[in-house]
Amino acid sequence: MENTDFKNIADRVARPSRILITTHTNPDGDAIGASLAFYSYLNKKNHQVQVMIPDQFPEFLAWLPGCENILVYSRETEQCKAEIQSADIIFAVDYNNFERLNEAGIKVLETNALKILIDHHLNPAPHFDLKISISKTSSASELIYDFIEAMGDKHLLDKGMAECLYVGIVTDTGSFSYSCNYVKTYLTIAELYRLGIDGEYIHRLVYDTYSESRLRLLGHSISDKLTVLHECHAAYIVLSQEDLDHFNYQIGDTEGVVNYALSIKGINVAALFMERDNIIKVSFRSKGSFSVDKLAREHFGGGGHRNASGANCTTTLKETVLKFINLLPEYQADLKSVY
Ligand code: 5GP
Ligand code: MN
Repeated sequence: MENTDFKNIADRVARPSRILITTHTNPDGDAIGASLAFYSYLNKKNHQVQVMIPDQFPEFLAWLPGCENILVYSRETEQCKAEIQSADIIFAVDYNNFERLNEAGIKVLETNALKILIDHHLNPAPHFDLKISISKTSSASELIYDFIEAMGDKHLLDKGMAECLYVGIVTDTGSFSYSCNYVKTYLTIAELYRLGIDGEYIHRLVYDTYSESRLRLLGHSISDKLTVLHECHAAYIVLSQEDLDHFNYQIGDTEGVVNYALSIKGINVAALFMERDNIIKVSFRSKGSFSVDKLAREHFGGGGHRNASGANCTTTLKETVLKFINLLPEYQADLKSVY
């Protein structure tokens, strides 16, 4: 379902308000990029604005303008609770269910604040008052650009905001390799370049800042932890807590690892199972018509997009992997005929 309340949202943000921008746990480039660009915009519109995230963002985003003002619920819990309590409007950016804020989500749901969604995932939860929910777009960052444009405020965009939005679009499309078959995405990118961004430099900041241990963890994942089931068109990587500890895992270090499993010819679905703090974090990726959103939603209590989804499971690492393997026969025909 595609839902756009641009006009209604414009009416509700016409007067200066206390606005809290929230984004999902394990925040990625789009979550942080979209939130920070929106933060700058709403500040320029004279709102009192705060960005809040459930847990820390990865280091490769720590150069984005405004990130020093982000509140992290797991670290600054009391301050975050106060911000949630006093907000007139709470925006959900780049996720579609307050469950994805963990404990902070429960606090948000208890408030009377107006709750507004700006997101591109499938199947939004019903608990939002207003929605911009468009799945056929590259990223939440592109939607933030669309929102600013729809408000007639393109003149308020600056280079810093353009950098944030560019990072969101680049990271959510795998550097323009999926979710980007839209002319409009490239027209938006052109506008961001017009605002003075240096795309080559941004690529270096986002992709060429690995620590040695991150690169070695990637090598270990591919060389020792990858299983390829050619006959099922599936491949998966399993990382235990011990693996992560051995390579001094830092938040963001496994970002992109699952894509290597999908890059094998004939492999149409790939998974990464990662044991972290007694939770099994699962990442699914697929090619073409095979929907990993459906797979994650129906069997693992997660969700996402058609070609990129995830879940957090409380089953053991072994049980979670086995569940995936046992499901593959059910999807044999779909996986064989991906288009
Ligand atoms: P990643 O594998 O990069 O963590 O996530 C891929 C996509 O799936 C992202 O769009 C993310 O928002 C979504 N996703 C990841 N984990 C979960 C989850 O536990 N629940 C839901 N509903 N979506 C998730
Ligand atoms: Mn996104």
